[in-house]
Amino acid sequence: MNVYNGKSVFGGIAIGKIRVYKKNEHQVKRSKTENTEEEIRRFHGAIEEAKKQLGQLYEKALKEVGESSAAIFEVHQMMLEDDDFLESVENMIRTQKVNAEYAVAAAGDNFSAMFSAMDDEYMKERAADIKDISERLISILDGRSGQQTLTDEPAIIVADDLAPSETVQLDKKNVRSFVTVHGSVNSHTAILARTMGIPALIGTDLPLDEQIDGKMAVVDGNTGCIYVEPDEKTLRDMKQKLAEEQEKRELLLTLKNEKGITLDGKKILTYANIGDSKDLAAVLQNGAEGIGLFRSEFLYLEKDTYPTEEEQFRVYKTVAETMAGKRVIIRTLDIGADKQADYFQLKKEENPAMGYRAIRICLTRTEVFKTQLRALLRASVYGKLAVMYPMITSVKEVKKIKQIVEEVKEELKQEGLEFGDMEQGIMIETPAAAVISDLLAEEVDFFSIGTNDLTQYMLAIDRQNQELDEFFDAHHRAVLRLIYQTVQNAHRAGIWCGICGELGGDLALTQLFAAMGVDELSVSPGNILPVRKAIRETDTGKIREEQLKKWL
Ligand code: PEP
Ligand code: MG
Repeated sequence: MNVYNGKSVFGGIAIGKIRVYKKNEHQVKRSKTENTEEEIRRFHGAIEEAKKQLGQLYEKALKEVGESSAAIFEVHQMMLEDDDFLESVENMIRTQKVNAEYAVAAAGDNFSAMFSAMDDEYMKERAADIKDISERLISILDGRSGQQTLTDEPAIIVADDLAPSETVQLDKKNVRSFVTVHGSVNSHTAILARTMGIPALIGTDLPLDEQIDGKMAVVDGNTGCIYVEPDEKTLRDMKQKLAEEQEKRELLLTLKNEKGITLDGKKILTYANIGDSKDLAAVLQNGAEGIGLFRSEFLYLEKDTYPTEEEQFRVYKTVAETMAGKRVIIRTLDIGADKQADYFQLKKEENPAMGYRAIRICLTRTEVFKTQLRALLRASVYGKLAVMYPMITSVKEVKKIKQIVEEVKEELKQEGLEFGDMEQGIMIETPAAAVISDLLAEEVDFFSIGTNDLTQYMLAIDRQNQELDEFFDAHHRAVLRLIYQTVQNAHRAGIWCGICGELGGDLALTQLFAAMGVDELSVSPGNILPVRKAIRETDTGKIREEQLKKWL
């Protein structure tokens, strides 16, 4: 047994085999070709190889997990014979003169989007199968044939580091835990691990060699340890801990349909943060009262070109309908800094976190912004959607945004397209916005405090830089004071104020936030019930003075 240590970003125990994730494993390059017939021949060769692999997997699964679980590989084999899919790939190769890998990836994306948009639950689930199949074909085409794709079985994913665009592309249902050598506590990869509610470690001293791949391991997200090839006693102890955690979790589930009301009757909404419509299952399982932050940029990161209005509309509509009248706050595109998509062709910057990102891109590339706003406004007919703008620093920006929203509404009206009414709010995540929150409050319907960026800018500590973690004080008074001032300014203007940064899920601060009068805490789905429990055990009347003095 070897034991390695790192920093925990989400607690819990995970037991499983290690899969080492290598960079670029899933990136598909588009290249031009004159010899399209050769590409089509390669494509058919890959189909035959994929059928063979699936046949072998079927036999293996039949022996190990039984017929019903093995059947999925037969379904995949049948899908490889689907005429529409085959034709779509061939057409793309012929008409666009592109390589087979790219055509398979693009057709796979299109078909899987089409399946996810279907009403029938069974058909919806086929979207993930299409993705699996196209990944398999691509790995055969680009010479990784025979290598098991990362997504075939539940595993502990070990990587040097993971960019948000890589993390979103992992098949999450098969990820039991993330362990990285680099990365910082506030990185988006860490946030995604929290959203998924799985144990995750960063900054581990694990040697990333080939030999570790496939080894049995246990991740203890509570202590920050990973045990590779655990001895019998460790495995037994960890299994027991896992069972205890599950028991605790069941107890928490009794709060699923309750509200977050303090002992003295103050209501604090407990909402969920998500990055994808796939996170909705976790949102519902944890009894969220709404969605407080949908990081819509992940829709852009998953793709190799701008998501269309229709694609976005379908996702927003699904989320709005699934939440059935509960508030869903969608944050407009927050791309830039660590969240990069090549097709935006953003220039390299000296200080990307303080650079061309988020609302700054939307206000200068208004066609991108308007496409998203159109999709949002149209989807708002199907539920209680609200929109929220990131990285605001001035009243001028907000006025400009509101003017663009009015223009978009007018355009939709002219085109006879139906749209709803959405609350409009802003993120308070720059010190400037917090300091002028009295003025901003006059312009919008609500505030949501983004403590991740607010802390980074307030303390001048790059949230991505692991070396600075020792200087990073998540409970710094400067940040807490700003939060309190922002809440007070919101209330003076008669609007509500929530917190959607990671600090919102910090149980050490729940009582303080309640005493400050925070109206909503939006946290990763796995944190909703613990936060709700903490709210219900709080008496703000009793703690107010003492707590505020201690912290502020
Ligand atoms: C924040 O900055 O606190 C926030 C919620 O947004 P993100 O983490 O996506 O930057
Ligand atoms: Mg932010």
